[in-house]
Amino acid sequence: MRERTPLRSAALAARRFCLDCQGASPGAVRGCADTGCPLWEWRLPPAGRETPGDAGACSVTARAVLRAIRRQCVTCAGSRGDVRACAAREDCALWSYRFGVRPRTYREVRRRFFAPRELDLPLAPAQPAGTEDFLRAPAPVPTVKA
Ligand code: SF4
Ligand code: SF4
Repeated sequence: MRERTPLRSAALAARRFCLDCQGASPGAVRGCADTGCPLWEWRLPPAGRETPGDAGACSVTARAVLRAIRRQCVTCAGSRGDVRACAAREDCALWSYRFGVRPRTYREVRRRFFAPRELDLPLAPAQPAGTEDFLRAPAPVPTVKA
């Protein structure tokens, strides 16, 4: 089976996917007439189109490509659950971007979601003035009669 290295950007992944779709022919990709395909706008080489956002954030262009990839994946797989379960890791250029976010973002969200958390139990209700707090009071010492 062919091994794929993850592509550096979503735009490159979309370009690679289109080349795979058209038998690795750049001319055929350029001339693709399927304007309804989610990736149609992103089928050409991404050079000069993608500008990095501030502080490593996704640029507007990158977000648009990611959304297009997500639409393509949901169309391809049929449902969001099937996209999650997609097993084409080595075969599909879009695999690392199939959730519509960058792989780094996905890993970070997953890490936060599954991180151990402290239990946040509600506090015991306050006792009315003058009543004894039986939960917190020390146990009574039994007295022995002589
Ligand atoms: S835009 Fe869609 S149909 Fe056209 S080459 Fe890309 S993936 Fe294939
Ligand atoms: S990553 Fe999976 S769901 Fe997305 S286009 Fe490729 S094969 Fe289809």
